[in-house]
Amino acid sequence: MEGRVETVCRICGLDAGEVRFDEDGLSLFVVCACCGCESGVEDGTATAVRRHRESWIGDGAPWFEPKAKQADWDLERQLASIPPEWR
Ligand SMILES: [Zn+2]
Repeated sequence: MEGRVETVCRICGLDAGEVRFDEDGLSLFVVCACCGCESGVEDGTATAVRRHRESWIGDGAPWFEPKAKQADWDLERQLASIPPEWR
């Protein structure tokens, strides 16, 4: 992921276009509108990412900011956009 910014949430796969990690891999501490996790806090390791994702899905995958949810939102489709290294 060197030299590329990350805009996709490692935990839920939402891409709101906001930079979560810059090109140096530094976190910008963006709170995800979907799963509510903060970049650089809950998603530092693949183990933590999977644990948070499982617990979020176990809770019924609720939106942290329900107003940001699109009418045609699809959990499976969004999960498919999670980068392979965070699945
Ligand atoms: Zn998220």
